[in-house]
Formats: sequence, C-alpha cells, structure tokens
Amino acid sequence: MTDPILRLDGIVKHYPVGRALLPFQRRRLRAVDGVGLSVMPGETLAVVGESGCGKSTLARLMLRLIDPSDGRIFFEGEEITALTGRPLQRLRARMQLIFQDPYASLNPRLTVGQILEEPLAIHRIGARRQRRDKVAEMMRVVGLPVDHARRFPHEFSGGQRQRIAIARALVTGPSFVIGDEPVSALDVSIQAQIIELLEDLKRRMGLTMVFISHDLAVVSRIADRVAVMYLGQVIESGPTASVFASPLHPYTRALLAAAPKPDPAGRGQRALLEGDVPSAIDPPPGCRFHTRCPHATDICRVEIPMAEPGPDGHEIACHHWREIAAATTAPPVTATAHPRRQKRIAIFERQLARNQERDADIDRPGERDSRTTPSAARHPSSEKSTMGGRQ
Ligand code: ADP
Ligand code: MG
Repeated sequence: MTDPILRLDGIVKHYPVGRALLPFQRRRLRAVDGVGLSVMPGETLAVVGESGCGKSTLARLMLRLIDPSDGRIFFEGEEITALTGRPLQRLRARMQLIFQDPYASLNPRLTVGQILEEPLAIHRIGARRQRRDKVAEMMRVVGLPVDHARRFPHEFSGGQRQRIAIARALVTGPSFVIGDEPVSALDVSIQAQIIELLEDLKRRMGLTMVFISHDLAVVSRIADRVAVMYLGQVIESGPTASVFASPLHPYTRALLAAAPKPDPAGRGQRALLEGDVPSAIDPPPGCRFHTRCPHATDICRVEIPMAEPGPDGHEIACHHWREIAAATTAPPVTATAHPRRQKRIAIFERQLARNQERDADIDRPGERDSRTTPSAARHPSSEKSTMGGRQ
C-alpha cells in the first residue's frame, strides 16, 4: 500500500481566550480537537463543514504555518511537527497555500512579475534570468498574458487575480497544495474556470491537493475523497461519490440535505440542521453533534465516539452509524434548492461542460496567452463581471 504524503495524528489546536489569574485557568477555544487524517499522493481531498468548524486552522496546521498544541504531523514520511529554521523554510517550498481572497493575499505594491518572482528569490531558486523565465512560464500555464507581468494586481479581474495567486503558489514547484476556499470569492461562472485550471494543473504537475470548501457542488466535482468536520473534529471521511451517495454520520446527512440539489423529492428534510453550531469554547460533552442530532441517545451525551472504519472506505465517528446504515435503503435525504441557487448550479454546470469542450486548447499554450479563450469569448460577461471596469 502507498504511504500517505501527509498524515495527521491526533492533531489539536487550542487558543487561549479571555483573562484568568493563572494560565491554567484560561479557557480554551478548541479550533481543531484531535484530528487524524491521511492525504494520499496525487489525490484531491476535500475538507468540508460549516463556517468556524476549523477548516482553515487545519490547513495552517498541515502546512506548519501554525504550531499544533498537540499531536504529530508527517510529510513525505518525515515528521515535521517540530521543524524550525532552514528545514522548515525548505519545506515551505514544497507545500503551498492558495487563499480564498486573491485581492487580500496579493501585495498591491508589487507587479505580477515581482509577486511571482518573490517566492523563487526567498527560496533561492535559480539565477535572475531563470527566475524571469520561470515567471513567464507560470503566467502562460495559468492562462495570463505574459506581457501583463508589469501590471499590478488591481488591474486584473477577480478570476485573473486568482490565477496570479495560483501561479505564485505553484512557482516553487510544490508537491502538495492546499486551496482554502479558493473559488468562494468568485462569480459562479468564473469558479468553474478556476476549478478547471486547478484540475488541469494538478494533472500536469502531479500535485496532491487539499481543497477546503463549504460548497458541496464544487467538492463533488473536484475531490476524490472528502473529510467532513464538525466543531474541530473530522466526523466522517471517505470516497467522495460514496460519501455523497450514502452518508452515514447524521451530520454529513444533514449537511448534504441542507445543500441545494435540484431535486424536489426531499423537501422538508432541511429541518435536520436546525439550531446554531455550539461554541468551540465549551463544546458539548460526548458527541459534539448530539445537541443537533435526530438520532442522539444517552450515550451520545457522555461518550465521545471514536472514528471507526465503515463500508466503502468510510470512517465514521458516531455511536449509531450501524443502525443508520441498516435503516438506509433509500438514497440519502435531499433538499430543494432555492430557485436562485438552482440557477447558479445550472450556470456552473453549463460552464463546466463548456470548459471541458475547450480542453483541447489547454494543451496549446500559445492560445492561452490571450485572455480571449473560446469560453471567455463566448461569455464576455464572465471574467469581466468582477473587473471593476479596469483593463
Ligand atoms: P473555518 O475555516 O472552518 O471557518 P477556522 O479554522 O477559521 O474555521 O476557525 C475555527 C475556530 O477557531 C473558530 O471558532 C475561530 O474563531 C477560531 N480561531 C481561528 N483562528 C484563531 C486565532 N488565531 N485565535 C483565536 N481563535 C481562532
Ligand atoms: Mg476558513
């Protein structure tokens, strides 16, 4: 069996909150609380869950951008939990992060050329000339006109800025990339283009990807495997198709039921996710989901469920998953999307289909020098819609 490229073992990240006379009296916010997770080479693992459940914290822990409070992290077979100095610096070139908001993550004072050259300079990769060539190559690869290297981030549209952010993340040649909601800030038609680009780059560069998102429609298309988080813990993981078709944890079922699907059959099921997410400062004892769970019994209120292997490669942390699996003969609950959402999904899917038609162009980099790729030409409104009238 292949070894994971990245492995988390009992990873914990607590933040002290409030004031106390003595350090041990301080309350702690349990942002990530005991996560064990493996990422296999070449796969795309999606991490999903409601806002505040710890997805971004988990991403930062994986990349050692923050230190874990407890647990161990292994990357390419080597323990990196306590790495510092030069070895940590070297690791940074091999693991990269793409942020949600390309506007906030790109230095407005630097040109695109400088933005892309910076990581190469920091990691002392290549001589000046080679760096320039690498920058031009990366711009071509992500579909940006090379002669735009002297422009500043504000001169680009939202979609193009995300292309710059992707180029910057990939310029050092990492093997492992995390996208933290990399398309959430973009228009839905542009989302499809950026996802297409990420998938293409992943194939070409042999990347392993962790894709963080709250958008299950996007996840179902891009991810091989999915890990579902609730209040700092992974409560179910498994192959995407199987988790979407037969979710076993009540929270996964509720999350999928609440997600928009153009299917009127499951109307009314959304009630499953009623109630707010409890605070991560004083999370419920026992199973964290018991306060919102329709299956909760006494044991759930006192005993923390351990992750157990289930059918189809699932891992589920629920006291009652076996009963749920036995009772589930029908397809999982679905809910009706709001008409506006349904329209967005339809646009997304049409765009994706068009982009796939356009696949042939991807292997002809010359054509990608121009922003007028066939799909952009057919949809003049698409990337321009977030351009703010520039360019
Ligand atoms: P997500 O990305 O799933 O929305 P985050 O990982 O950003 O969630 O946050 C998880 C929890 O940790 C939240 O309750 C958030 O407020 C808290 N948190 C994140 N970063 C910090 C920090 N630096 N200090 C204190 N609390 C934090
Ligand atoms: Mg986040």
